[in-house]
Amino acid sequence: MLCLVLAVVTAGLAVLLSRRERAAGRRDARRAAEAARALEALRVERADRAALRELTGLGVLELDDRLHVRDANPAAHGLLGRAAGTLVGRSIMEAFLDPGLESMARSALEGGPRTAEIRRGDADGPALVVRAQRAAGGGLWLVLEDVSELRRLQRIRAEFIDNLSHELRTPLTTVSLLSETLARDADAADPPVPDKMRERIAKIEVETGHLVQMVNELLDLSRIESGGSLLLADGLDMGRLAADAAERLRLFAERQGVNLRVETDPGLPGIRGDGARLGQVVVNLVHNAVKFSPDGGDVVVRAQPVGDEVVTSVEDHGVGIPRAARDRVFERFYKIDRARLRPEVGGGTGLGLAIARHVIEQHGGRIWVESEEGRGSTFSFALPVTDGSE
Ligand code: ADP
Repeated sequence: MLCLVLAVVTAGLAVLLSRRERAAGRRDARRAAEAARALEALRVERADRAALRELTGLGVLELDDRLHVRDANPAAHGLLGRAAGTLVGRSIMEAFLDPGLESMARSALEGGPRTAEIRRGDADGPALVVRAQRAAGGGLWLVLEDVSELRRLQRIRAEFIDNLSHELRTPLTTVSLLSETLARDADAADPPVPDKMRERIAKIEVETGHLVQMVNELLDLSRIESGGSLLLADGLDMGRLAADAAERLRLFAERQGVNLRVETDPGLPGIRGDGARLGQVVVNLVHNAVKFSPDGGDVVVRAQPVGDEVVTSVEDHGVGIPRAARDRVFERFYKIDRARLRPEVGGGTGLGLAIARHVIEQHGGRIWVESEEGRGSTFSFALPVTDGSE
């Protein structure tokens, strides 16, 4: 009897054990299959990433924490003028021969994305835009783009506009002077000139004035875009500059029935800049604010310290700017809609804000607009405080 019980228990145990073994075997097989699938997915992702890198035509480099090249694609070798496979292991300085780029990469390691533009070799070498971004697993990604052709076309466009504006300016100035004289003669003529003819002469004078302004602004913009030098001075008082600029437009504002106020903090910290150019920026902003204000509207010019910057702003309560247009108003020639303008003020060139942005960025500052359609706009720019200490 005992033997029988033992035999049954043993057989039961054997069945149990073999079931467990089979279950463990199935688990192992499942895990192995999962691991194989994960490996395959990784292999496919890597292959896709490599294919994508080649497809973009961009140079891609992976650097470690010490800023040595861990990996670089063929395009990166081509753009840096290196033989295939010779970048790996080199330091960023050896790879780019540019100390500015090394410091940019160091700051990218510590913070957000960074961008720099370099010339490979001498001044005629290819222009490369380099974007850096910290890699999720440590180190840094660098992406290189050849912008030589873009820069060449930009230079041609700037030269063309510059030449054309110069050519146009002389005859236009003559036409403008003649139309002014003609308008004066027509006003004083005896016997009087018919009204219709006087109106036409006045229109020629106004439109010629717009053409002269457009040509002058085009020349200004091409000079500023080609990095025309600034006449820098230290310790500039942005409050005084803003107030002087506003004064230049007081008569224009009065004629449009607009109340122009200046509220600047006394004793603002000094900034470093080109006073004439910064004054011109405020003139452009105030001119627009008055142009787009209703009769009896208020325009307020402010300058105040905010952190380590001085912020100058021009606020109006006019037509405002639609959301979709807010990012575009700083583009050259961008105009929202002629119909929004008071007819007696005349149109603009669409260049004033493009010039303003260039001037402010040349000064290491920022310019932006806040606006609500139908309620008004505030254009502001911030410039770093130097207080004459630099
Ligand atoms: P413009 O010479 O035409 O005034 P700007 O570059 O100065 O050229 O301005 C671009 C466009 O932005 C203007 O045509 C106008 O539509 C819009 N804009 C500029 N300032 C204001 C403002 N204060 N209120 C409403 N719209 C404005």
